[in-house]
Amino acid sequence: MPTSSSRKLVILDRDGVINLDSDAFIKSPGEWVAIPGSLEAIARLNQAGYRIAVASNQSGIGRGLFDTAALNAMHAKMHKQLAAVGGRIDAVFFCPHTALDQCDCRKPKPGMLKMIAERFEVDPSVTPVVGDALRDLQAGAALGFPTHLVRTGKGEKTLAAGDLPEGTQIHNDLRAFALDLLAKESD
Ligand SMILES: [Mg+2]
Ligand SMILES: [Zn+2]
Repeated sequence: MPTSSSRKLVILDRDGVINLDSDAFIKSPGEWVAIPGSLEAIARLNQAGYRIAVASNQSGIGRGLFDTAALNAMHAKMHKQLAAVGGRIDAVFFCPHTALDQCDCRKPKPGMLKMIAERFEVDPSVTPVVGDALRDLQAGAALGFPTHLVRTGKGEKTLAAGDLPEGTQIHNDLRAFALDLLAKESD
């Protein structure tokens, strides 16, 4: 395998991309339910040499709706279900803050994506960022990542509202994104 493959990375939002979203926040492992096909899509990307990082706003922590232990338990469920289909997420970055904290990591600020690019030593210009909300795409576009909108989660609303960053590609779901990325690779 060429060394360049170790630099292949996809950055995913979590809620509405990997798992079903809720306006009432995902607060417990019981509420964390994978979107059909999303875990298999991650496994397909892994098999093609992609590492996967998650960048997720989790202001429910800052709002006191759940704590870091609950978040860890959700992610343990995610990792376990993913492992069962042969997939792997290499890192989960999350912002626990609310807008009032004025941090640099809460999307649309690009802080989390910047940390991920540095940690994984990847070139943002060839590293897809996938999200269902405008702020996911804005965070990516701020650093020159190619941006991809999925229509799951808040995706339909995001698409209808318009004003997507230039060049944003639109996919029905994470499965469609993965198949498209892998098809383009084999061109
Ligand atoms: Mg989302
Ligand atoms: Zn933050």
